[in-house]
Amino acid sequence: MQSERKYEFSWDLLGDLELGRPNLGPQTRLEVYRLMQFCFRDTLERTYGTEQADRIFYEAGYLAGRHFYANLLGPVHDQNQFVAKLQYLLKELKMGILRMEEMDLPGGRLVVTLSEDLDCSGLPVKDHEICTYDEGFIAALMESFTARKFVVKEVDCWCTGDRTCRFSAQAAP
Ligand SMILES: [Zn+2]
Repeated sequence: MQSERKYEFSWDLLGDLELGRPNLGPQTRLEVYRLMQFCFRDTLERTYGTEQADRIFYEAGYLAGRHFYANLLGPVHDQNQFVAKLQYLLKELKMGILRMEEMDLPGGRLVVTLSEDLDCSGLPVKDHEICTYDEGFIAALMESFTARKFVVKEVDCWCTGDRTCRFSAQAAP
């Protein structure tokens, strides 16, 4: 048995923003979000190494995706509704602009692009993709919707010189 946890996530940790931020409201500057995310990533890498840092980011994105689906996106009843609602929410929440390039649910395959991505758009170009959190996030959305396990890999990223992030998802056999 695991002992009582201190930091288990629940949706109410997002808080009552009307009550708590009557003047500042629910918005913040994106730099603040990125400052936290990239300092977290730096610290995780220094503490656990690159591979574990990536795994933790993927897992965190996955957890977020599960809760996002349960609290905002779902339940949706068909593919069109899934895509339309997801596109709407990602734009409304200013997370990015989603385009579905390929969606073959029976074949367990999906390719999406996310432009103006929250995490990486505008960053200096590097030699690797960085949207590991998004990978986990998309995997959880697909899994919540289809009840099949998905593995997601970012194949193009702003950080590899592309102007959009492209994610390829494949259902586990
Ligand atoms: Zn990216």
